[in-house]
Amino acid sequence: MKALVKSRAACGLWLEDVPEPEPGINDVKVRVLCTGICGTDLHIYDWNDWARSTIPVPLVIGHEFSGEVVEVGSNVADLQPGDLVSGEGHVVCGRCRNCLAGRRHLCAHTQGVGVNRAGAFAEYVVLPMMNVWKHTHPIPHEIAAIFDPFGNAVHTALSFPVLGEDVLVTGAGPIGIMAAVVARFAGARHVVITDVNPHRLELARKAGIPMAVDTQTTPLKELGMREGFDVGLEMSGSPAAFREMLENMCHGGKIAMLGIPPSEMAIDWHQVIFNMLTIKGIYGREMFETWYKMTVMLESGLDITPVITHRFSWRDYEKGFEVMRSGEAGKVILDWHDVS
Ligand code: NAD
Ligand code: ZN
Repeated sequence: MKALVKSRAACGLWLEDVPEPEPGINDVKVRVLCTGICGTDLHIYDWNDWARSTIPVPLVIGHEFSGEVVEVGSNVADLQPGDLVSGEGHVVCGRCRNCLAGRRHLCAHTQGVGVNRAGAFAEYVVLPMMNVWKHTHPIPHEIAAIFDPFGNAVHTALSFPVLGEDVLVTGAGPIGIMAAVVARFAGARHVVITDVNPHRLELARKAGIPMAVDTQTTPLKELGMREGFDVGLEMSGSPAAFREMLENMCHGGKIAMLGIPPSEMAIDWHQVIFNMLTIKGIYGREMFETWYKMTVMLESGLDITPVITHRFSWRDYEKGFEVMRSGEAGKVILDWHDVS
C-alpha cells in the first residue's frame, strides 16, 4: 500500500510502498479516507530533538484520520465493514491503576498512533477495537478526520464550567479556535481569543469569535474587564501568553492548559497563590466522554468547518506540510479517497 513513511533518520517524509498492516483478533483494519496534519507531524518531518528521541525509524506516521472499516478481528462484535470511523490515537495499556479504574486518558503507558506505532498517513491503518469511534450520524469525512485535535479542544474547553463565564483563550491555532467556538457553544458569556499572528486572528473571526485580539497591539488590560477572566484556556504553548493569562484572571480563576511550552518556563507564582488560581494540565482526550461530547455537539449544530482552510491530495503532501509551516493555515487535510 501507499504510505507516508519516516524511513530515514533525517529531515523529510517519503511516499513509499509498504506491506498492508494485518489486524489481530482484537483489531480493526480501516481504509483511510481523510487525514489531518498535526504540529506533531511537522516535528517528525523536521526531525527535531523530540522526534529523534521518540520515533522508531522506519514508521508510517499520522494520527488524525477518518476511514471505513474493511476488516475486523474475530473478537470484534460491534464494528462491521462499511462503518465510518475515526480513531483515538492514544493506545492505552488497559492494566495500570488508572486504566483499571476506567480513567483511560490517565494511562501511565500510552502509545501513540503514528508516533510509537504505525500511523494513518496510508491506505490502511490497524487499531485496537477500543480505539475506534464509530460515526452513527452522517458527518463529512474531513470533519471526522479532525476528531483528535477537535477532542483536544473539547477536553480543554469543557474542563471547567463555562456557562455564563468570561473565557480567555490564548493562541488562535486550529485547536485554540475550536476551543473558543466550543466555549461559546457551551454558554460562555464573553470569549476572547488572543494571538500575535493576524492570519490566525482573522481565521478566528471567520469561525465565529469576534473578540480576536492581537496582544502585541492591544494589551488585555485595555479590554475593560472588571475582575478578570473566570476561565483560561492556554492553547499557544507560549510563555508570554501564559504569563499574560495569569495577569488577567479573576481571583479563583480556573486555567486548563493544553499548549506545550518549548522548555521550562518561569511564572510569577504569587499570582497563582494569592489569587487562588487552579491550573489543570490537559493531555489528549477523555476516553470516551470527550468523543461523546464532540459527536453530540456536532449533532446539535456546532460548526467547526471554518477551521479547515486547505485540502490536498495525498500525492501533494509536501504542499500540505509547506502551508502548515507558513502559519497562514488552519487545519490542513490530505484526501486519500482515490489512493487505491
Ligand atoms: P499552533 O502552533 O497551530 O497554534 C499556536 C498559536 O499560538 C499560533 O497561532 C501562534 O501564533 C500563537 N501564539 C504564539 N505566541 C503567542 C502569544 N504570545 N500570545 C497568543 N498567541 C500566541 O498549535 P495548535 O495545533 O493549535 O495546538 C495548540 C497547542 O497545543 C500547541 O502548543 C500544541 O503543541 C499543543 N497540543 C497539546 C496537546 C496535548 O495533548 N496537551 C495536543 C495537541 C496539541
Ligand atoms: Zn494504562
